[in-house]
Amino acid sequence: MLARAEYQRQYRKTERGKSWLKLYRKSKKSKEYTLNWRLNNKDKTIACTRRNQEKSNLRTKLWRINNREKYLICKRLSDLKRMAHGRITLRTLNSVILNSNMICYLCGKIIFDKYHIDHIVPISKGGTNKKKNLALTHPICNRKKHNKFLWELELE
Ligand SMILES: [Zn+2]
Repeated sequence: MLARAEYQRQYRKTERGKSWLKLYRKSKKSKEYTLNWRLNNKDKTIACTRRNQEKSNLRTKLWRINNREKYLICKRLSDLKRMAHGRITLRTLNSVILNSNMICYLCGKIIFDKYHIDHIVPISKGGTNKKKNLALTHPICNRKKHNKFLWELELE
């Protein structure tokens, strides 16, 4: 048995082994196994989670030190988001969807599948989460707009 376990360990280090492992980890069987293992090894799971949390906290701290400017911009953005008047409630969302007739306000075409809720005046430029400032867009159109005003987009 030991020899077999060792063989498997070696195999996982090869290219073929790695790609097999990648596929396996996505499978239902693997997920069930992980879930079961976590249930049976609660202490280990908690310890492991804590360890990872500590590592990730450290990484974040280091990143903030090394990317001070980026961090300040991100922080400003999230502060603005927090200050934007009110959160987007389900009721607001529903009425935005209803008013839009499932038409993208950026390109004017019908939205069949996925949609994004866009801030007409970007949050980073003082926009709010109120109904008037929200509109339905295609994910692609929204990504193109990013945090620009509509008139900035038309100038490009
Ligand atoms: Zn569109």
